[in-house]
Amino acid sequence: MKERRRPLVCGNWKMNCTRADARALVDGIGRGLGSSRPADVAVAPPFTAIEAVAAACRDHGILLGAQDVHFEKSGAFTGAVSAGMLADAGCVFGIVGHSERRALFHETDDQVVRKTRALLSVGLRPLVCVGETLAERDADRTLERVLGQVDAALAGVEAAAFPSITLAYEPVWAIGTGRNATSAQAQEVHAAIRGRLRERFGPLADETRILYGGSMKPDNAAELLSMPDVDGGLVGGASLQVEPFLAIVRASE
Ligand code: PEP
Repeated sequence: MKERRRPLVCGNWKMNCTRADARALVDGIGRGLGSSRPADVAVAPPFTAIEAVAAACRDHGILLGAQDVHFEKSGAFTGAVSAGMLADAGCVFGIVGHSERRALFHETDDQVVRKTRALLSVGLRPLVCVGETLAERDADRTLERVLGQVDAALAGVEAAAFPSITLAYEPVWAIGTGRNATSAQAQEVHAAIRGRLRERFGPLADETRILYGGSMKPDNAAELLSMPDVDGGLVGGASLQVEPFLAIVRASE
């Protein structure tokens, strides 16, 4: 089954990189990747750097996305950016439901599904993040929490639109902490997510990529990526430098 899913490694640059930094990073990644690559490669720069790297991403075959989106099309939403604006700036995907958005910006499951639908409505691919906190894991509520987020994020999404969606399992306790999930922990949750997707979307679930995110680094990537239901990585800290990011891409081979 896994052979039906080409790996995807996506850098989430968070609130880092001037436009010049972003251009240098994309050029370095693009040059290092060359033409034969074991995975699809994507980056999500901050809004201000999206347009600055759009042409280079196209030239290097790197998918370009945003870290967030507003669900309304336009209007009085100070500080927000719509899905249509992201498409206009050159994005092909958008991250929604990242745990930092959920925790620091109070993003709710309802907003996550509205953002997911807003991206789909303009032809952008949603990358939907789910994950449990340490307290939830310790209370043995990991699958309940994660599958609840999956159900909520995909509420009302039609089967026809589902193939555009990528999921990312990102345990909150592993993000930016240096403490990654073990490959067995990741596999258990990824398999449960795929099982839930299969209940709703049937065999399409076997085509859907489920990425792991949370302190993925060159020295743990190969093992995580070797798991049968781990189809790539959503990488924060290690995506801000060319060599560690490329090492993770190569580890998906
Ligand atoms: C992330 O923010 O999506 C992430 C996985 O971060 P890090 O790799 O730094 O843990």
